[in-house]
Amino acid sequence: MRLSLPYTKTKIVCTIGPASRKEQILKELVRSGMSIARLNLTHGSHEEHKENVKRIREVSSNMGRVVAILADLPGPKIRIGKLKKGQVTLKKGSVVYLTTEDVLGTEVTIPVEYKGLPECISKDSLIYINDGFIQLQVQDVAKDQIKCKVLIGGELLSYKGLNVPEVEIPVKVISDKDLKLIDFALEEGIDAIGISFVEGAKDIIEVKEYIKSRGKSAFVIAKIERGVAVDNIDEILEVTDGVMVARGDLGVEEPIEKMPEIQKRIIHKANIFSRPVITATQMLESMTYNVRPTRAEVTDVANAILDGTDAIMLSEETAIGKYPVESVEMMSKIAVNVESKRSSLRHSSNLLECWRSEVGQKKIAIEDVIPIEVFEALNALPVKFVLTPTRSGSTPRRISRFKPKCWVLSFSGDEKVRNSLAFSYGVYPFLTEDGGNHEKIINLVKSLNLVNKGDEVILTEGSRKTGGTNSLKILIID
Ligand code: PGA
Ligand code: MN
Repeated sequence: MRLSLPYTKTKIVCTIGPASRKEQILKELVRSGMSIARLNLTHGSHEEHKENVKRIREVSSNMGRVVAILADLPGPKIRIGKLKKGQVTLKKGSVVYLTTEDVLGTEVTIPVEYKGLPECISKDSLIYINDGFIQLQVQDVAKDQIKCKVLIGGELLSYKGLNVPEVEIPVKVISDKDLKLIDFALEEGIDAIGISFVEGAKDIIEVKEYIKSRGKSAFVIAKIERGVAVDNIDEILEVTDGVMVARGDLGVEEPIEKMPEIQKRIIHKANIFSRPVITATQMLESMTYNVRPTRAEVTDVANAILDGTDAIMLSEETAIGKYPVESVEMMSKIAVNVESKRSSLRHSSNLLECWRSEVGQKKIAIEDVIPIEVFEALNALPVKFVLTPTRSGSTPRRISRFKPKCWVLSFSGDEKVRNSLAFSYGVYPFLTEDGGNHEKIINLVKSLNLVNKGDEVILTEGSRKTGGTNSLKILIID
């Protein structure tokens, strides 16, 4: 028998829910590349999860595939309660009351499961619901209710998560309810436990010791979804078996614009510690409703793989989406494509090094020598600007491709060339009468107050004889 290996080296995690728990669908998910089935213990009954475990085990063993089961704990996530007809629409500008009373939610009153919320919240605090798609601002706080104005409205479904990033909520990371769920999961023989909202190593140690005290074993995945966990990533990686970049909550707990940087750092560190890392949430979000993903989503999946992620995760796409199987097929296709290109795409991260090893064998063009020297000088000196007179735009472009730290100011006498440099990373192009006159360039940057006395700048120059840029000067502004 010839073993046919999976298409993708990247592991695909599928969250199992109503849209995917049928045996036939589970089979299709495995066939399309699912390596890990994730049971979100926040949703669904014990009976359902029990049945899910049974079906996943049966299907995978019949197909001769290894599928690990990850049981994901709810942790200290605050959630809203049940809504009338399961859904309400919140209008921008309207007033809603979050209440700790056990009522059925409406457009006006929304129940919150955590009774302690009014105590730790204050006027003007921002409340995010459903991963930040809905935003409220606190206007008034009473004992058992919080009056809020809707800043960003929209459709809201029952039991969606609620975040208050600025406020420290005094609840334990691992609650008694979580411990009971761990017992349940271990009884069912699951392979891995996901710990939500970890803060530091202590949370992972606590779960590991608990599992051990039960005489069982399970792989532990620390979900990084809070700023404090990002800060403590080293100690977490030291003790955990794996991590998840849990972008859903992380994207509201931390400024969303920091997401790419945090993702890259966590993946890189996890790689260094050799702990498997899952990149999670909204990877193919639009496939919850559409049969095709957006270009941005396809790129996001590919980029996570290039970042070095071990696994990519589907949440609603497979749990409640219309196209669970197509979502996994799409992930597989993207992964297959980018995995085979990894080495040829490597230059995006450290271009100079890759460029050197690639062109190193061949003769380097004269025009490339100075840009390399410029880049080296920039790494060694606190240079304020690179000043590049240019006729064709080639020199600033050759410097720009290495993504230098400081701005490259280009000077050319041709408007078309000047405008063409608007496309180049870090290049600020000037139109000057005589592109190559050094004195004029220095005077210009001085007159624009771009430099002060004592600043170091790099100036590239060419000679009229050879045409191209062939030397570099380091000047101190006087
Ligand atoms: P969740 O975790 O889906 O359990 O919230 C993942 C995330 O926050 O991204
Ligand atoms: Mn989360």
